Amino acid sequence: MIAPQSSLHLAHHNHADDVDDCCGGGASCGVAPRAYGEVDQPRIARAVREILIAIGEDPDREGIIETPKRVAKAYAELFRGLREDASTHLSRTFEQASDELITVTNINFFSTCEHHLLPFHGQAHVAYVPGNGRVVGLSKLARTVEVFARRPQLQERLTDQIADALIEHLDAAGAVVMVEGEHMCMKMRGVRSHDARMTTFARRGIFRTDERRGAETVQLVRDLAARPRC
Ligand SMILES: [Zn+2]
Repeated sequence: MIAPQSSLHLAHHNHADDVDDCCGGGASCGVAPRAYGEVDQPRIARAVREILIAIGEDPDREGIIETPKRVAKAYAELFRGLREDASTHLSRTFEQASDELITVTNINFFSTCEHHLLPFHGQAHVAYVPGNGRVVGLSKLARTVEVFARRPQLQERLTDQIADALIEHLDAAGAVVMVEGEHMCMKMRGVRSHDARMTTFARRGIFRTDERRGAETVQLVRDLAARPRC
């Protein structure tokens, strides 16, 4: 019984250290201006150096001595979306007196799985019905996807957030979002499921209240997404 108790204590102690460390300015300490402020690149670099040591590398080896700094810079870019707001892109609308369906398919995205900090990437497909005669340009939709993709993310949440943003910031009457993603954490590790592709859906507004219209639109988006690309 002694060993489990002491390892329990150790686990608790480590956790406490993590919490203390977090309160030095990390994302979950509550005070946290840094969660949505500037990325602390020197801190990332220190952590990456620790990772290199922990995996048995020599962090001072010529080829990787600058790696901590490079990773810090890359992370600042990959997680830029934490400090951005989708409303900035979706508020730049133009008038179009129409309540017909608008679809935009094959919006490429790159994101980072929050469970493993490994990339996942794929395409987002969007269909929406304007709510008050306001529509948004193609590039603004792509930017919106990017705002949410460039965060520690789950594909399910990415899909939901895009759909919610269309309703909240564009005042769309309804939205269907389909996201197809390939996850490096599935391809490179664990079960090594090389061909696995995950598909997620979100329906909002009229596509949720009108079950039949929702199902038809999901099918339409599926068909459009499956068309051969030129
Ligand atoms: Zn993962």
